Amino acid sequence: MAGQAKFPRHAILCGTALLALSAVFPCTTQAQTARSTAKATNAAGKPKLVVLLVVDQMRADYVDKFQAQWSGGLKRLVQEGAWFRDAAYPYAATETCVGHATVSTGAFPATHGMVANAWWDRKEQKLVTCTADPDPNAKNVGYGGATPKGADTAWRMAVPSFAEELKFQTSGATRIVTFSLKARAAITMAGHKADAATWFDGGAWVTSSPYGVQPFVEEQAMSHPAKADFGKTWSLSFPESAYWYGEKAVGAVPPDGWDLTFPHPLRGKTGVGEPDSAFYEQWASSPYADTALTELAEKAVDALKLGNSNGTDFLAISYSSVDYVGHAFGPRSREIQDILVRLDKDLGELFAQLDKKIGRGSYVVALTSDHGVVPIPEDMQTTGADAGVLHLPDVQERIEKALESFHYAKPAVARINGSDIYFAPGVYEKLKGDANAMSAVLDAIRTVPGVEAVYRAEELRDRPATQSPSLRAFASSYFSGRSGDLFILPKPYWLLDGTPIGKQRSYGTGHGVPYNYDQHVPVLLMGFGIQPGEYFQAITPADIAPTFAALCGITLASRDGHVLAEALKKTAEARTSYQPARPKSTPAPAPNAKP
Ligand SMILES: [Zn+2]
Repeated sequence: MAGQAKFPRHAILCGTALLALSAVFPCTTQAQTARSTAKATNAAGKPKLVVLLVVDQMRADYVDKFQAQWSGGLKRLVQEGAWFRDAAYPYAATETCVGHATVSTGAFPATHGMVANAWWDRKEQKLVTCTADPDPNAKNVGYGGATPKGADTAWRMAVPSFAEELKFQTSGATRIVTFSLKARAAITMAGHKADAATWFDGGAWVTSSPYGVQPFVEEQAMSHPAKADFGKTWSLSFPESAYWYGEKAVGAVPPDGWDLTFPHPLRGKTGVGEPDSAFYEQWASSPYADTALTELAEKAVDALKLGNSNGTDFLAISYSSVDYVGHAFGPRSREIQDILVRLDKDLGELFAQLDKKIGRGSYVVALTSDHGVVPIPEDMQTTGADAGVLHLPDVQERIEKALESFHYAKPAVARINGSDIYFAPGVYEKLKGDANAMSAVLDAIRTVPGVEAVYRAEELRDRPATQSPSLRAFASSYFSGRSGDLFILPKPYWLLDGTPIGKQRSYGTGHGVPYNYDQHVPVLLMGFGIQPGEYFQAITPADIAPTFAALCGITLASRDGHVLAEALKKTAEARTSYQPARPKSTPAPAPNAKP
């Protein structure tokens, strides 16, 4: 059965089956104390604005490695916020759509249904993206005269977002505004409806029919913030000695028109003339795109007076560029180190604006990531580690060959998408009753270089109790109808790659498996109601939404995440007094050691 049949569109249950969280964390009952003491709270003793920041593909170790060079917003989150140092996604499908939906809903993919960026639709027999909406009434809407194709909505997301719940449970006072370069991030963070959900597509800013069209976005789109960066150059922020890695990242595949060394010019493929598609790829892979998103967010705060209404507003930004840079240059690159230095500046600026317009301590921020990334295999090999490329077309070829003697129609495999193997209609049902053919298939997959294990869908259903962490991880992202029939677990540091045999890989590295390098991400909370400090307990990014909910005095339907109670100030009075627990230190000098 196709997943969309199981979850009819718009059959979203808001605010049902709620947990009595208010007994644990009585936000609203303490309102009177809060109201009298501070500018820091609105009438209900809640944050005026909830800010969700997702840095796409930001590994947790980046904070440890690079924070000495930060002096802006990232530094402030580390110094003045609650820093959860052991946060990781517990599931296998560590991809963008999945991670954003998890952060947004407080649920794992087995619950929210966004199991990948795209999956094989068995009914339609085609690959569908997580946001593709076949409803003829749904359509994408372009700002600045753009005419985007298709329709992207959250209809496949099976539970409401935190922001939707907030709006629903506060009689609609909440405004929901999200930005990203990617539809699958802007949409999942917003939910099924929002005041604005804006993303970037082929040089234009875009939204879609369930979301509001905002004049301030139109105004910004008319000033063409991307195009205006044509001709700029991304240069290193510090002297070369400040960078951890060599001039050229090993195994990197930079965007068209760039080579392996700084500076990187934003001049398209040929370096002359008008912005072309190569230019937009360069721009999206540069710090300039982060700055454009930050400016859009600042415009939203001004135009909609976010944080100055009767309710709690919601603003989310997903910074996509670290992901593009990471795919091209890998995590062990000057490019990653430098783009974080630039993002730190942008976030410092954003927080300064929010302090000014809303009040320091009267908004709450969470920063996390949707997934990490594996080092480029060729780079990892230089360390002597067992690393390599697991060729998915090779997997498919060997399955077809293994089934030849069992007289299965060819092709038996409909699609391999990341870890997920989808068989042609009827084939997997037949295999389940054909033990010899099934073992031949499983054995054939295990012979492919880089394969650690293969799991069957039957092993994952209903989230079984198991001692195997990888089986548990695949089960946490298993959603019946959408996930594959078989699942490949690569060996650690082996990259799953779908490039046709004989062709050159068009990117450096990727993510999407249940290993620490893909699962472990930062979680930092700061501002209203947050007790600063370093926290070492194991948590997941699904804990962010329930924690926001507790701060806002609403409750989420029982999900997978938990309230991070240890990082919440215990009384309303404490919540309204804003003081960093640790002294603000001066920025440490840049490291000159190169491990
Ligand atoms: Zn990615």
